Amino acid sequence: MADRKGRALVRRFRRECPDAVVALCGCQAQVMAEGEARGLGVDLLVGNRRKARLPELLARRLAQGKGGGGVELCRGDGESDPWDPLELGRPMRHTRAFLKVQDGCDHGCAYCIVPSVRGRPLSRPPEEVWAEARRVVASGCAEVVITGVHLGLYGRDGACSLGELVRRLGEIEGLRRIRFGSLEPFALSEGLLEELRSVAAFCPHLHIPLQSGDDGVLRRMRRGYVASDFSRQVEALRRAFGDEVHVSTDLLVGFPGETEEAFRRTLDLVTQLGLGRLHVFPYSPRPGTAAALWTDRPSREEARRRCREADALGKELLGRYAARFVGQEVDLLVEEGSEEAVQGLSPHFLRVRGEGPGDPGSLMTVRVRGEDRGVLWGDRG
Ligand code: SF4
Repeated sequence: MADRKGRALVRRFRRECPDAVVALCGCQAQVMAEGEARGLGVDLLVGNRRKARLPELLARRLAQGKGGGGVELCRGDGESDPWDPLELGRPMRHTRAFLKVQDGCDHGCAYCIVPSVRGRPLSRPPEEVWAEARRVVASGCAEVVITGVHLGLYGRDGACSLGELVRRLGEIEGLRRIRFGSLEPFALSEGLLEELRSVAAFCPHLHIPLQSGDDGVLRRMRRGYVASDFSRQVEALRRAFGDEVHVSTDLLVGFPGETEEAFRRTLDLVTQLGLGRLHVFPYSPRPGTAAALWTDRPSREEARRRCREADALGKELLGRYAARFVGQEVDLLVEEGSEEAVQGLSPHFLRVRGEGPGDPGSLMTVRVRGEDRGVLWGDRG
């Protein structure tokens, strides 16, 4: 789906801006054949871990003028490329900056193309991460989200551990909140939880992708855990951060072998565990992956129906989770504010609306009066 959209976008750019230089970056550029790129009207194919070179490549191509040559390739094999030194001088928003610290994966989930296009796991040097975090905090940003393709692999190649990375981030003055984008369930260890718990700025919200609650489907996905392992991880999270910790997850619906019973087991598991936000994705085969050859998947209509049902359950679970904060005071990091009203996120990653005034980037306390579809609302605490 993403590939198709990418191609459609390139065609549109080329049609609407015939004289523009069109550069395609990332995973699609990493694997696209030169002939196909030429047919689409692409000038530059810039693969993963080469994106920092984009300004220089574009400048050269623009200097050559129209008709400056065929398709120019800038891509490596993903194995020998070092960290792509893309840096954030200041965040797009006042409130939250996304710091990518890890790239690549070798886990080999049966449906995922990442291991063959993103290359070997690589950790960003910790000094660079801490320096970038200091810069974004100095620009007025109070929250950072640590991201990676498979964040749990951070440090496996000799950089400091993920726990140590976060602990040192927690020492940066003015950095009020630290979150993870997403962490695979098999990356959660007691040691890591212990370190995260010791960092006051680390937020009580973790996004842990489950994908399926059925052991047979999980095995075919090659995820490396079964449903009971996931349940134990959620229990460990609650022991570390308390019962109110928000655990959100991803579900991949309609995978080969997912029967109605298997789907029900997934819904039952997320309900029993009292998870919060669910991100529901319909499975679609990626050419080049093991699962793309498996034909025993539910029909498209059936998969759509299951997605709708999982989405509806997700809304219900989020509302149920959010309702526990009614009557409490929560901290709000203001994203948008006016004289009358403010809105932003709580430490538990719930959207909160409160009374103004409040400036973007400021922290305030809201006494929660109610909840509406997972959004908390209230007045100044
Ligand atoms: S789904 Fe995540 S863990 Fe699995 S192969 Fe892809 S990137 Fe790696």
